Amino acid sequence: MTLHASYDPDNIFAKILAGSMPSIKVYEDPVALAFMDVFPQSEGHVLVIPKQVEARNILDMPPDQLGPYMHRVQKVARAVDAGLSPDGLVLTQFNGAPAGQTVFHLHFHIIPRWTGIPMGRHAEGKMATSDQLEPLAKKIRAGFG
Ligand code: AMP
Repeated sequence: MTLHASYDPDNIFAKILAGSMPSIKVYEDPVALAFMDVFPQSEGHVLVIPKQVEARNILDMPPDQLGPYMHRVQKVARAVDAGLSPDGLVLTQFNGAPAGQTVFHLHFHIIPRWTGIPMGRHAEGKMATSDQLEPLAKKIRAGFG
């Protein structure tokens, strides 16, 4: 998948948005959906995706929708901070397969970090179970106050 291509409406995140694929949600409003990454690079790794837009990457995002979406990214990052009390937060966003993108619907990763605990590698590692992710999701949901 190159940087420039048409949007595939069958991508995994489109299916999550449509409700035809399950996810462990932590936040949803008309602008964005946030859910737990099933191959987490750390405990509490969350993805934030824009709704109602066919944007494969940041280049595709209509500028007038970017601000509201980034507002949600910050909102979810603040909830991760409040809910999990990490020592740091990594935000990543990949555009195009050569840059590391594997799912072609725009998303930001929010990856909490704790001093002395190494971060897993992107697009590697073991799939987490719902039993592992749900308690973390619950704490993040509580972080919205
Ligand atoms: P990227 O490589 O930046 O496109 O990130 C895609 C992310 O989606 C990876 O971190 C995957 O672990 C994650 N992922 C893939 N499928 C799912 C899924 N069904 N539910 C939650 N996260 C997923």
